[in-house]
Amino acid sequence: MKGNFPVEKFKEMTTPFYYYDTDLLRATLREINAEAGKYEGYCVHYAVKANANPKVLNVISQAGLGADCVSGGEIKRALDMGFPANKIVYAGVGKSDWEINLGLDKDIFCFNVESIPELEVINELAARKGKIARVAFRINPNVGAHTHANITTGLAENKFGIAMEDMERVIELSRQMPNVKFVGLHFHIGSQILDMGDFVALCNRINELQTQLESHHIQVENINVGGGLGIDYHHPNRVPVPDFKSYFATYARHLKLRKGQTLHFELGRAVVAQCGSLITRVLYVKRGAFKQFAIVDAGMTDLIRPALYQAYHKIENISNDEENDTYDVVGPICESSDVFAKAVDLNCCHRGDLLAIRSAGAYGEIMASQYNCRQLPQGLTQEDLA
Ligand SMILES: *Cc1c(COP(=O)(O)O)cnc(C)c1O
Repeated sequence: MKGNFPVEKFKEMTTPFYYYDTDLLRATLREINAEAGKYEGYCVHYAVKANANPKVLNVISQAGLGADCVSGGEIKRALDMGFPANKIVYAGVGKSDWEINLGLDKDIFCFNVESIPELEVINELAARKGKIARVAFRINPNVGAHTHANITTGLAENKFGIAMEDMERVIELSRQMPNVKFVGLHFHIGSQILDMGDFVALCNRINELQTQLESHHIQVENINVGGGLGIDYHHPNRVPVPDFKSYFATYARHLKLRKGQTLHFELGRAVVAQCGSLITRVLYVKRGAFKQFAIVDAGMTDLIRPALYQAYHKIENISNDEENDTYDVVGPICESSDVFAKAVDLNCCHRGDLLAIRSAGAYGEIMASQYNCRQLPQGLTQEDLA
């Protein structure tokens, strides 16, 4: 089974480009709102770093999600695209002064603070403005996620967050600072997580930490469990919408929220990955002694995930239905890692055929670079081609 693409329209377009199925994006957002809406106090933020294409962001802000930002640039983009400031959370291990000032000026919902030196700077900058910054502490829960090593973030060895042992000290410290207000705890254990057991482990850890804090009379207004829900890269057609039902139900079942607490989520990949495809043209089919290459006009500069994480993306030849042949699909960049897939079966490839590299809506267009003086790929939606 292949995806549904306006191939005739694609033929007129300059390749490579990203194509976003906004119907699927809207269906995904409806599912998120329906499933999260079953539980009281659940607030879903979209992790802007997964895809900051303005057209994509517009659809997401219209669905009422908040934004999770990791830079001042993302805060600006989120505000421009209609996300309300009081639904913006801001995380990151290295926040610059101008970025903190921007968050203060715009009155964002919360800074997710990752160290004591950062807390001190936020307190100082807020004091200069006569403001009180709402802060949550990003706690490193030392919970592993069964995913690629480069995308686990919640282990003690990772650079993110404050160690659990330091949590109470940091909270106490913040209480002595006049220009910050402690409002919550933040966690994020990694990305592309499909084993709900990983989220259960996080819930159990949060339950322990809350009990510990309560024994010292510390109450927490809100809990933020980050994002990380994975998608099915192997079956973009069969499983276009991730299993949000199980995801939210896992938290409802295992996380013991206290009365009045809100629970925040920061989903990136699960929101946008399946709606995006990178559309590329076959330039040449090169036959070697042992294999053949489909050389395409997209490269790792357009979609770096295969080169960076050995990530799998399903590839389809959307130009014909001829019999399958086996190809290494490679780009034109002068790097040996510029390979999208090895030994994949595709409908027989010819010069000019269009290939769809699927599930590329997250960490695709936004990570594109101009290496080799290449142009950045365009991002087009269904509406753009209508
Ligand atoms: C990247 C990131 C997310 C989103 O992760 P996904 O795997 O795309 O859901 C959420 N929160 C923080 C703090 C992040 O850094």
